[in-house]
Amino acid sequence: MQKQHIYYDLHIHSALSPCAASDMTPNDIVGMAVLNGLDLIAVTDHNTLLGTPAVVKAAEAMQKQHGNKLIVLPGIEVSTVEEVHILCLFRNLETALVFENELSPFFSKLSNRIDIFGNQVIYDEKDCVLGEMERMLIAPTSISFDDLYFLTHKHNGAFIPAHIDRASFSVISNLGFIPPHLKINTVEVSPNGIEHGFKETNKEIAAKSNIITSSDAHQLWAISERENYIVLPELTAEAAIDFLR
Ligand SMILES: [Zn+2]
Ligand SMILES: [Zn+2]
Repeated sequence: MQKQHIYYDLHIHSALSPCAASDMTPNDIVGMAVLNGLDLIAVTDHNTLLGTPAVVKAAEAMQKQHGNKLIVLPGIEVSTVEEVHILCLFRNLETALVFENELSPFFSKLSNRIDIFGNQVIYDEKDCVLGEMERMLIAPTSISFDDLYFLTHKHNGAFIPAHIDRASFSVISNLGFIPPHLKINTVEVSPNGIEHGFKETNKEIAAKSNIITSSDAHQLWAISERENYIVLPELTAEAAIDFLR
């Protein structure tokens, strides 16, 4: 089978994340990704998958109308009890939502403080506002790093420690190392880390794991250009998750 270069951005926050701009709507994210020439994206809001179905549906509607193929992986950026940020990505909405249901007992019971953290806007696939999310998404969950790994794998998902080069909210900053007893095939390094030679100074990690880099966009303009790619046998969610997990 012919291998393809698949251009991606697998770390994008929608308007549901309190820290993201309110114009990060499903259709604007999808439109910007297509404009930038991306093939594969994931929307990864903090501690919720609620914003994902609208983005998946917006991408499907766009393909029907205009023929642009953009795969959207259902995703979530979970903050573990150790305050380590993990991207959990899934093959389809069904498994992602079952995963979220099993994760929900670990969600914080606090309510959002809009004045401090910002709005958590829920959009439908036509960019109509459905409401505000009550739960404080910025608060960490109570699930451990290891338990989140096993829960994600149970649902055939990809468990990707996020921005591991950063001085906070990363596996290296908060745990001190990447736990060797777990088979972590992919890690994310921020664009800044890549620029400052992370791969060259961390050859051991680079030898063991795929290193991907995504935007962590909170505004439309920050979504990646056609710059980072993975090599897959075909452009499907299945092939992407098989590579990443
Ligand atoms: Zn993060
Ligand atoms: Zn993020």
